[in-house]
Parts: sequence; C-alpha cells; structure tokens
Amino acid sequence: MSGPGDVLDLIRERRAFTRGDVLEITGMSRMTVATRIDALLEAGLIIESGTEKVAAGRPSRRLEFNTGHAFVIAANVDTTHTTVALTDLAGRVAAEERIEVAVADGPDVTLNAIADRAKHLLADGRIGREDVAAIALSIPGPVDPDTDRPSQPPIMPGWDAYPIPDHLKAALDVPVLVSNDADAAALGEQRVAHPGSRALCFIKVSSGIGTGIVLGGKAYRGTDGGAGDIGHVKIAGHGDLLCQCGARGCLAAAASGRAVARALVDLGKPTASASDVGVYLADGDPDAARLTQAAGRVIGEVVATMVSLLNPSEVVLGGVLASPPLLAGVRETLYPRSLPRATRHLSISQSTLGEKATAVGLAAMVVEREYSASAVNAALARS
Ligand SMILES: [Zn+2]
Repeated sequence: MSGPGDVLDLIRERRAFTRGDVLEITGMSRMTVATRIDALLEAGLIIESGTEKVAAGRPSRRLEFNTGHAFVIAANVDTTHTTVALTDLAGRVAAEERIEVAVADGPDVTLNAIADRAKHLLADGRIGREDVAAIALSIPGPVDPDTDRPSQPPIMPGWDAYPIPDHLKAALDVPVLVSNDADAAALGEQRVAHPGSRALCFIKVSSGIGTGIVLGGKAYRGTDGGAGDIGHVKIAGHGDLLCQCGARGCLAAAASGRAVARALVDLGKPTASASDVGVYLADGDPDAARLTQAAGRVIGEVVATMVSLLNPSEVVLGGVLASPPLLAGVRETLYPRSLPRATRHLSISQSTLGEKATAVGLAAMVVEREYSASAVNAALARS
C-alpha cells in the first residue's frame, strides 16, 4: 500500500466501506489508515456518511468516493448531431446542450462546435477549468487505445488518426479522453444496471451497428480499438448490399437503422433516418416492427458468435432501434445458434438507461484515469 490513492481505489471500487474494512484488507496500522483517510477527506476525494453496522464493536461511518469532487464535460458525437453535457463523476447530467453538427462535417467543425459549447457551459462563472476533471468524447468509430485518435473509422470521413486530444486540449486546456460510443455506453450499462456483471456486451443499433464489451468491470477495446466493431462483418446472403463503408454485404448494410429506413421508404413510408424508424416503432407501426424484428434476426446471427466467444451474462440492446421487436428478432436466431452452456445464464435485455448510459460510461473512464491510485498519490504529494 503505497499511498492514499491506493486506499481511494478500495473505496471507489466498493471493496472497502469503512475504516475497519481498509484495516482488514490492507493490514496497515490503525495510525497509517487514519492518516491516509484524513488526507482523502481533506482533499475532498471521499465523504463520510451515515453509519455502517458492523458485526462487532462500535458502528463505523461509511466512506464513499465523492462524485462531486469535479465535473466531466461529456460530448457524445453521433452521426447526425452531438450532445455536450456537464456531469458529475458518476455521469449524472447537470446541464446539457445539443449541437446540430453531423460527423460527416469533419473533425474541425465538430470539435470547434464542442469546444464552443463547453466554454458556454463553463461561462456562468460557477465552474472553473480547475473544477473540470476532463472533457470526454465518444465517437461512432474505433479509437486507438494508445493515441486516443480515431482508428480507420468506417463512417467518419476525414477523422482517421485525427489528433482529437491535441485539438481539444488547445481549445479548453483540460485533460481529454476519447472513447468509442458503444464502449462508453457498455460501461455505463454495466456500472448502473448490471454492477455485478463479469462480462457484458452492449449492442448499439442506430444508423449503424456497434458493440461495446465490458470484461471484469473494464471496457475491452482490443489491440487497435477495433474490438466489437461487428457492423462491418460480412454476412452470407446479403453480398449485393452496399454499405456506408464502401464494402458490400456488411451486417450494417442489412440490419442497421439505415437499412430499415430504406426498406420503409420502399414501402412508401417517408423515413429520413434511423431516428425516424425509432419514431415509427414508438408509435407501434406494424411495418417498422416487422422489419426491425427481421433486422434483429440477422444481428442475432452475428451476436451468437460473440456469445459463444465471450460467454457474457448480459447482452444489452441499445440505440434508437432498441425495442421489443428487435429483442424478439435477436432471441430468435441467437439461442439456436449458440452453445447451451454459453446461454445458460445469459440475459438479453433492452437498455433501461438509453442515452444516459454514454455519459455514465465516459465519466467512469475519466475517474479510472484521473483518479487512479498513481494519479491521486502524485496529486496529493504535490499539494
Ligand atoms: Zn460496412
């Protein structure tokens, strides 16, 4: 145990709830534990609340990570628009603004608009730069885990390897974190809805199709940030369909919100985007329901492979197409195509958090990096 940051880790990860827990887990002296906890309390990194009943001895006050210690600016870049939110360290939104920039407008336009909105959120004077732990950005494409730059994103023209962290750091002078959007949403789902889950897959079905994987409580990004990018897996029987990425026969070309929208147009129903499909689904439109269920069946074929590979306890469906018909379609093909052992304890559900999941996941990623044991030890040593 090298410093207060290591004690914070125990409290943050809910392995220790009281001073007694810290004593027991670390084996440190009572005096050292008291010094470390006092340092954390003084820095506002933890709070003491209520009393925790203990089996023997005096009741002990409960220690908690202070999610109000700093703010996160969470920017969710979507295909057609971007939202910029000010959140606490648990991802609870205090203020939010929507910007009408499309990812196809390119990185300069999008990032300048985000920086402007962020400055606007900070402009009322109550919050200074020093109160912001980081600006965290989610993008609809893979992110290189070493550089935090987009890694050959299939549907983001002009963004490949663009130095997002440098651009935002120059504009806002706060730490920058970049994540794939499905990775962030997957982590948000795990933290809030399935905290005990050891393996969770989040399937986002909106304009495109993406997947986030959370293993052991951490987003699994893969060697090049490409883990879970199932939208461009080639599937049999759809080789004639042209995908946004330029290839033919991709899962996204056959079963994304964009594909369902096109099928609805063919039926004479005006549908401009995946969001419009979501509106039809909410209204109970039978054509939208039938086509979405059919898309779910195709997605289930690919997800069956993921399930056999990872044996998750949860598959969570999100994005604007997440609905009972999509869930039904996925179940229809996933179960027969998976090994019984891989699905014995599997729950397939629709996201209950919706768009909130991304901000929660981004805040969790910021906390993991900015409040790690080494970061906290270094910060407290400086102060
Ligand atoms: Zn494709």
